[in-house]
Amino acid sequence: MSSTQCKNLVVLGATGSIGDNTMDIISRHPHRFKVFAISGHSNINKLVSLCQKFSPKYVVVSNSSLYKQLLSLINTAGIKTKVLVGKQELINICQQPEVDMVIAGIVGSAGMEPVLASVKAGKDLLLANKEALVLAGELVMQAARENNANIIPLDSEHNAIYQCLPDDYIVGHTPNDLDKIILTASGGPFWDRDQSTFAQITPDQACAHPNWDMGRKISVDSATMMNKGLEIIEAHWLFKLDEAKIDVHVHPQSIIHSMVCYKDGSVLAQLGEPDMRIPISYGLGLRDRITSGANLIDLIKVGKLQFFPPNYQKFPCIALAREAIKIGGTAMAILNAVNEVSVDAFLNKQISFSAIANINQQIMQQADITAIESVQQLIALDDEIRHLTEQEIKKKVSIHA
Ligand code: NAD
Ligand code: MG
Repeated sequence: MSSTQCKNLVVLGATGSIGDNTMDIISRHPHRFKVFAISGHSNINKLVSLCQKFSPKYVVVSNSSLYKQLLSLINTAGIKTKVLVGKQELINICQQPEVDMVIAGIVGSAGMEPVLASVKAGKDLLLANKEALVLAGELVMQAARENNANIIPLDSEHNAIYQCLPDDYIVGHTPNDLDKIILTASGGPFWDRDQSTFAQITPDQACAHPNWDMGRKISVDSATMMNKGLEIIEAHWLFKLDEAKIDVHVHPQSIIHSMVCYKDGSVLAQLGEPDMRIPISYGLGLRDRITSGANLIDLIKVGKLQFFPPNYQKFPCIALAREAIKIGGTAMAILNAVNEVSVDAFLNKQISFSAIANINQQIMQQADITAIESVQQLIALDDEIRHLTEQEIKKKVSIHA
């Protein structure tokens, strides 16, 4: 699978945390990778400096109100990169024949169509954007099978599982000789905090992750442990496993990134510093191990590795995700949409931390769950659930005002 030929890359979400780590690795291997295109939503100054440094052929800004400003900055700086705007351009770029790999680093359902487009065009997809898979896993995996697209998980847990599976393992198939997998979870900043104080948690406290430095949405998801729920769904699609085959162990040191338990009793684990450049470099290398800039772990300094069962009562979002897999159909898409809106409302200080799980639960109970038919249906459903959740939040805010 691996090859040292120079690869043309599209980096979606190049201005975010996954983007930063990806661009750092790319800059260490100028003969191995060429940046064909980058995208970002609103940080146009960062897009300009990335264009200056990596000279991509295209830069795509998804927020259309910033197009003219970006164009003028690029022209003034004398940069040759062509400026494009909007989701359709993003989709087109991912499907260009020159493109070898797409790195999916957009946060949320906004990344779903570019992910699907990349897979349909048979590109190697390096997937960080877990929401795309939670929303449209059935369609993405089907398109990957039909178009022989290789998906490589970048999420550290799924990448760890991928590293512990044989080199010829292809994502989307149930691995041979497997008993179960164990996803590790740091537990987030509040796993040992008294639940009765959850309502007082502020966005900044929720975003201060003990081990990982990430974007704000995934940081809040880690704090509610919805992140682990989304990751169970992600693993369900990537490794074609029932949710009962996907265990979760809270491992506060974040050194073991996940484990594969085989039928003979062997357990294979991947260990390393909590540094996203490790899983991203394994993806970029297509299983070749290339330098990533990460430090080698000092296990004597770490001293102890601990494991605890998750507290489903304190963090009900994990159970919601398990339930959504069991129900199937659009249940996972609904959970993803309500969660994106409730997290956003918490970050904007409209609702309390504990309200996130409550609203997620409430909308899951209210919504009609059907079979998945098409991507258009999922886009419409995503919109509908977002609207419904926003209405519910408005009602709650007005009651408490
Ligand atoms: P981030 O907020 O730092 O960056 C998000 C990126 O998406 C930015 O480039 C932003 O411009 C872009 N974006 C935001 N809204 C957009 C929209 N509407 N349309 C197009 N682009 C948009 O987030 P992140 O931490 O880099 O996470 C990105 C994805 O990777 C998430 O799905 C997250 O769950 C996953 N992930 C992140 C980490 C991590 O360490 N940061 C680890 C595992 C998985
Ligand atoms: Mg993860």
